[in-house]
Amino acid sequence: MGSEKSAAHDAAEKNRTEGGTLYLVATPIGNLSDITERALKTLREADFIAAEDTRNTLRLLTHFGIHKELISYHEHNKESRGAVIAERLSAGESCALVTDAGMPAISDPGEDVVRLCADAGIPVHVVPGPCAAVSALALSALSTARFAFEGFLPSASAAKKRRLSEIRGERRTIIFYEAPHRLVRTLTDLSEFFGGDRRISLCRELTKLNEETIRTTLSGALSYYSEREPRGEYVLILEGADEAGVDRETPCEYPSSEAEHVDMYIRAGMSRMDAIKRAAKDRGVSKSELYKILNSDKDAEN
Ligand code: SAM
Repeated sequence: MGSEKSAAHDAAEKNRTEGGTLYLVATPIGNLSDITERALKTLREADFIAAEDTRNTLRLLTHFGIHKELISYHEHNKESRGAVIAERLSAGESCALVTDAGMPAISDPGEDVVRLCADAGIPVHVVPGPCAAVSALALSALSTARFAFEGFLPSASAAKKRRLSEIRGERRTIIFYEAPHRLVRTLTDLSEFFGGDRRISLCRELTKLNEETIRTTLSGALSYYSEREPRGEYVLILEGADEAGVDRETPCEYPSSEAEHVDMYIRAGMSRMDAIKRAAKDRGVSKSELYKILNSDKDAEN
């Protein structure tokens, strides 16, 4: 009984909302019942809430009868607003940071303000809860022992292919976030880089009414979506190279940058043209795509 009392006391102590502290508060990814007791308590007790989209968060707060000062903190004001948040925290206020859904700082704003606070010696605590990536991984039926989170792939084609060529030999299970209007394009690109037989789980609208998990291969997914329109939010869980039995004995030893890859062959005595042809083949991209990537690298350097 005594130890139960002291455990309850410890929890109450830990759950106190302290001044001068930033709280990263996870919110539901679709199902409002997934909010935690501690998240509600922190939202109620913090001096102010910083939200990615104040209208969205206002709906959440209204649902739970919480009335609190709300300020916006998003991709386009994160520098100036981050400084304001850090200043208020330094003056002794407490702030709850929330994003539109899930765990703040994971493929949404938050990372920078956490760094700002860490650098300024401001305490940051987490109030954990739903996260789309981890939920989808758990549902995938693929290996969860080792995984790599890739978040959103770049939307520009050259940058996207460059990223895919970098992770071509990845042996861990890979997690991607994707929007419905880009799904088929991304499945096509994944299939080009990883092969149609590679297994994939597509988790859609998790915790919502139309929740669906499709466990298939990249070819199977492309064929499924040739007959229906992708709808809702997706997490894609892609099997790693090892599990697929690809290149088991000889790990991918190509240089990570395209320019270094081409240079490697030039140093070995090839002409630039042949080196580009060979590097393009190794990386599973066309010569013209590799040219584009090399040129965009050059532009970025100038
Ligand atoms: N920080 C959030 C998290 O960790 O859960 C993710 C924010 S990110 C801006 C939004 C992306 O997460 C969506 O485009 C989608 O890929 C994924 N996502 C969020 N909610 C989801 C859901 N209910 N079902 C499937 N994917 C979801």
